[in-house]
Amino acid sequence: MKLAARVSQVTPSITLAIAAKANAMKAEGIDVCSFSAGEPDFDTPAHIKAAAAKALDEGKTKYGPAAGEPKLREAIAHKLKTDNGLDYKAENVIVTNGGKHSLYNLIVVLIDPGDEVIIPAPYWLSYPEMVTLVGGKSIIVETDASTGYKITPEQLKKAITPKTKLFILNSPSNPTGMVYTPEEIKALAKVIVDADILVVSDEIYEKILYDGAEHISIGSLGKEIFSRTLISNGFAKGYSMTGWRLGYLAGPVEIIKAASTIQGHSTSNVCTFAQYGALTALESSQNCLEEMRQAFAKRRQVMFERLNAIPGLTCPKPDGAFYLFPDISKTGLKSLEFCNALLEAHQVAVIPGVAFGADNNIRLSYATDMATLEKGMDRLDKFVRSQI
Ligand SMILES: *Cc1c(COP(=O)(O)O)cnc(C)c1O
Repeated sequence: MKLAARVSQVTPSITLAIAAKANAMKAEGIDVCSFSAGEPDFDTPAHIKAAAAKALDEGKTKYGPAAGEPKLREAIAHKLKTDNGLDYKAENVIVTNGGKHSLYNLIVVLIDPGDEVIIPAPYWLSYPEMVTLVGGKSIIVETDASTGYKITPEQLKKAITPKTKLFILNSPSNPTGMVYTPEEIKALAKVIVDADILVVSDEIYEKILYDGAEHISIGSLGKEIFSRTLISNGFAKGYSMTGWRLGYLAGPVEIIKAASTIQGHSTSNVCTFAQYGALTALESSQNCLEEMRQAFAKRRQVMFERLNAIPGLTCPKPDGAFYLFPDISKTGLKSLEFCNALLEAHQVAVIPGVAFGADNNIRLSYATDMATLEKGMDRLDKFVRSQI
């Protein structure tokens, strides 16, 4: 059968391939330590689950408006105003099937064949694939540990051409966990305004911060940057709601309206009763966020210390998300070789950096219990020592 050409241009997810191999080993009864999770290991907080169950019981089981339940759009606009200093109304917000879908909607709405999208590497692996799917061109800008894996204003400026439409900013970052400082965000905003391009700020990890790091939303820095900003966010990471598929895109009405039209002909509304869970997540106490954050903070400290005690691995200390992204180049292995050998010889699953455009690194997730963390680090230590 001849499939559409666009299919052959998109790469299947390497993240999923490693996870599948690790799962197959587990199914055979092999004791695998997995640091591959891209999601929190906690259950969704009980009050959020109860709100969705109640909505289900009450018959909130019908089609709703494609752009989302009006109450939820309003609550999100309120959150963006009070939390992030962004002056949005409900009409500036569309509820989507996860943060991934909000980015996809945006790219479909905005990017024509040949348009350029600037993406700093290491990047979240779906960004360039989404751009490819619509015929756009990803301009990948390499960054390294010397700048904390963050793009500099000079690098951004250099990458801009007359074809540049959009810059994708992700802070805190997956896969590096790094957080841009307010000064760094300010400097990037100036380049964006001067060049008159758009920016989408993927803020899915905004609540998962450590050591007093501050999250600042680029659109809050003034009128000029605000009008050129899109916000992509969701409930998955902060509230441990990955399987719910609940996210949102916020920005200029023209873009949100167009995204609603696209969504109206593709997925329609997000699961109606699930949206009531999200509404409760926003409107009730935020203590659950802090509990999960503190658990992550402890694990981060342990994993970071263990990692830096391994000769040959180097890793800056990230201030956000739940990942560490060490440089493995001293082992002489490329990231995929490293990950396959580690999984086969020592039963530890990690994600190869090549999936994120950084072949000298691996991504370790500490969204796992402390016992697994200690055991897996023992094994990783042994493996790396055997290589160098
Ligand atoms: C997890 C993640 C998302 C979105 O996840 P959803 O489950 O679709 O809400 C977006 N961006 C990054 C960088 C992520 O890691």
